[in-house]
Amino acid sequence: MADIINVLPDSVANQIAAGEVIVRPASVVKELLENSVDAGATDIKLIINDAGKTLIQVIDNGKGMSETDARLCFERHATSKLRKIDDLYELITKGFRGEALAAIAAVAQVELKSRLPEADAGTIIEIEGSVCKKQEPIACATGTSIAVKNLFFNVPARRNFLKSNNLETKHIIEEFERVALPHHNLSWSLMHNGLEVYNLRPGNLRQRICALYGAAYNERLVPVNEDTSIIAVTGFIGKPEFAKRKRGEQYFFINDRYIRNAFLHHAVNAGFEDLLPKETFPSYWLNITINPATIDINIHPTKTEINFEDEKSVYSILRATIKQSLGKYSISPTLDFEQEKSFDLPLSKLQSLPQAPQLSVNKDYNPFNLDNYVAPRKLSTFEQQTNVTKSWDILQRELSKSGSEPLPTRSTFDQEHFNTHEHFDFVQLLNTYIVVRNPLELLLIDQQLAHEKIIYHRVLAQLHAEHTAMQQKLFPTTLELNAQDTLVLQELLPQLQKIGFEINEFGGNSFVVNGMPSYFNFDGEQNVIEKIIEQYKNNSTEFKQEAQSRLAMSVAMGLSIKRGSLLSKEELKKIYKDLLLCPNYETTNTGKPIVVRLNKALVQALFERKSQ
Ligand code: ADP
Ligand code: MG
Repeated sequence: MADIINVLPDSVANQIAAGEVIVRPASVVKELLENSVDAGATDIKLIINDAGKTLIQVIDNGKGMSETDARLCFERHATSKLRKIDDLYELITKGFRGEALAAIAAVAQVELKSRLPEADAGTIIEIEGSVCKKQEPIACATGTSIAVKNLFFNVPARRNFLKSNNLETKHIIEEFERVALPHHNLSWSLMHNGLEVYNLRPGNLRQRICALYGAAYNERLVPVNEDTSIIAVTGFIGKPEFAKRKRGEQYFFINDRYIRNAFLHHAVNAGFEDLLPKETFPSYWLNITINPATIDINIHPTKTEINFEDEKSVYSILRATIKQSLGKYSISPTLDFEQEKSFDLPLSKLQSLPQAPQLSVNKDYNPFNLDNYVAPRKLSTFEQQTNVTKSWDILQRELSKSGSEPLPTRSTFDQEHFNTHEHFDFVQLLNTYIVVRNPLELLLIDQQLAHEKIIYHRVLAQLHAEHTAMQQKLFPTTLELNAQDTLVLQELLPQLQKIGFEINEFGGNSFVVNGMPSYFNFDGEQNVIEKIIEQYKNNSTEFKQEAQSRLAMSVAMGLSIKRGSLLSKEELKKIYKDLLLCPNYETTNTGKPIVVRLNKALVQALFERKSQ
């Protein structure tokens, strides 16, 4: 039989390797940015067109390449960072496998320009699908510029696999931030489709975090600084009250290289102990400096995973450091173990509870009289509330069975008592439930779910209304967001406009807020809008729903009064009254109970069970 084994040509081998290293435009971004850092650049520019699908270009002022190196760097296993196997244990550079540029050149059209500082001329190379098309001397600046065009032009399967421009841009921004954060002493810029997304000046880590996420972060950071014989930990953690509902702002860098490690994450969480509100994730930006010989970073081709020689010690040092940092800055509050911590709404906000919308509230509304029920405007498609009648009927039956005083007819009871609340008591239980007692029954109402329902329907009504209830602000305020949130806010702007936010783009990641919905009272736009954006991002994966109700849900969840917030009697009453105006007010959209009724039958049954 004839020989059948072939050695694959380099172009094929490179394409296969590219499958592992280059999966999307963001992977190219990561490799190019890291190369520029390794080349000692102090100014690095990233230029993206069409979410990196048509152009990814990185321009640096690093040490540049000679004519030979410029050609060699596209070969497989071509690296200047590793010569012998022992070097692997002393690595401080980001690359070392020498496969990134070869992989990129196998699946794109690449143009490289590079010049050594001492050289008279530089070199330009054009390479396409691993085939070199051009190599010439050229006059160019010191440093290197690599433009990667039409990624996956020769691998249609990969190209079709790419996600929407919005999502691919998000991934690129993530990679950019992961390199720009630890290298805060360098200048970075990011342009997307000709617009400047970031222009970061050299500074310390705190300044870099604020430049990326907005100036508001300055007050949210707790410094971390610990030096031991095994590791040094520096950076910042977010104050517990600013913990997010979703993982996101969690960055570990080992020797300035971004890594992912569940074990380290666990250590940080453990350091926070029970300071974190339930179901939230702390923010952190931590750099661990460790002797490279004691770690193995070579276990994954994209190098975001890591193994430690002495995992246990790293864990306990990290946990203790976090705990100590929180303590030092007296973040540890005097905890009341009886109650859930309120984290979303500072107490000062309680003085300014959302007001009822003037447009759609029927002041004479009577919950027990369906004839008088006026559905909020344009909400007629919602089921009419039938629960009230039902429970009233049950009550009446129960009471007549037990032979107690005959009930007043609905209308007299309402007119005489409900509107004045004369016979209604309101108290709060566990800072979480509104307890309403009328002469016939006891209602337990989950304050957070109730308030969410109220806001949800208000926002929906506003989205359907012809006029926007908006209040022009006396002094417009500006809003600074990070690049990802900017994309989300841009998507939401038309709808937010509809519900009464007047927000205009101000270039870069800035916005100007000129007006707020008149049916809410709140201060601090940054906070409110950040909360809505965060919820909106969370809801995208948790709920499959149409855009309007997703927005309404996000506003509701972001702005609602949380369980654990102390409320005044007036506020309890107000939430109860507003809740009654909502369709199907006894349950949430997903069927969770908002109201639990303890009526006579139930109470009697409880006593009977006890006495058996
Ligand atoms: P690695 O980074 O693992 O060495 P790459 O394929 O990313 O492999 O790069 C190959 C080589 O090309 C690098 O080792 C470096 O010598 C050179 N190189 C790549 N990018 C630059 C740059 N921006 N400036 C100077 N040299 C570079
Ligand atoms: Mg590299």
